[in-house]
Amino acid sequence: MLGKNLSFFDLFQFVVGLGNKVSPTDIEEGMRVGIDKYTYQIQISLPPKIDPNVTMMTVEELPDATYDDIGGCRDQIDSMREVVELPLLHPEKFVKLGIDPPKGVLCYGPPGTGKTLLARAVANRTDACFIRVIGSELVQKYVGEGARMVREIFQLARSKKACILFFDEIDAIGGARFYEFNRDDNEVQRTMLEIINQLDGFDARGNIKVLMATNRPDTLDPALLRPGRLDRKVEFGLPDLLGRIHIFKIHTRTMRCESRIRFELLARLCPNASGADIRSVCCEAGMLAIRARRKVVTEKDFIAAVEKVIKGYQRFSANSRYMAYN
Ligand code: ATP
Repeated sequence: MLGKNLSFFDLFQFVVGLGNKVSPTDIEEGMRVGIDKYTYQIQISLPPKIDPNVTMMTVEELPDATYDDIGGCRDQIDSMREVVELPLLHPEKFVKLGIDPPKGVLCYGPPGTGKTLLARAVANRTDACFIRVIGSELVQKYVGEGARMVREIFQLARSKKACILFFDEIDAIGGARFYEFNRDDNEVQRTMLEIINQLDGFDARGNIKVLMATNRPDTLDPALLRPGRLDRKVEFGLPDLLGRIHIFKIHTRTMRCESRIRFELLARLCPNASGADIRSVCCEAGMLAIRARRKVVTEKDFIAAVEKVIKGYQRFSANSRYMAYN
């Protein structure tokens, strides 16, 4: 069996020749290169070891979101605090009891319900660095590149004091495996297997917590979800009435609104709205006030914005479709 961080190519060394498309001056010692899979001749020079794509992924040393910015989601906040915040802030509690805290959490639910927002808020609370990787960014053209990026992302996470690694839209690579001969899918599966390998390889009591988010949990591979990898699954639903009122208040906190706006009425007018929808309503109300050359936003603006964003754009809303897994 191969060691934890060793790949097939780390164990074997090959002496290879130059292909006719590259000149000897293009190739330097220690460089990463692509070779032809039949002749083993060097065909292309590859970018340096720490891939610029990895360093360019969203790395926030201290995210600005806090728990106060999240409306509703009380249960979700409590579960995240228990699984992510407690082990990072008070690891001794787990040591005393002799249990390993969960390594990772899967957040699932319709788009715009606050999954990313909560992950950033937890990172802020724990003073952890927040690394956000979008699943589709890991789908690469060359064989083995996606898996290498995963290794480098985890390497980057290990170099931080504490880190929350957030894989968004994980369904892009974490889909269930099927056994047809298809090279592209094989590559996607290899990337997912590398994530599983890395999840198994780090210490649950360490300072890395892995969060993954998806809108389609039903499509994910069971190997990814098994306990010991993503132990907790937290569902983010559409907010209820109280949640929607709270979200309206959060997003109007910094707006110049007329006094005594009936947020309850507004919340009742958008029954199936997500947090992102409500944010969009507030933004639209502000735009209407600007258009009318007013300096404050009125309740009428909000009602017109609800009409436009929630009712007018209903055909674009995916909220009901994404509830298919329920
Ligand atoms: P996706 O599945 O599409 O990635 P998501 O669930 O990760 O969506 P977020 O990125 O967290 O959604 O939310 C988008 C925006 O919607 C947030 O920046 C925030 O402004 C607003 N929002 C969503 N949910 C809430 C909430 N519960 N409270 C306050 N704002 C919210």
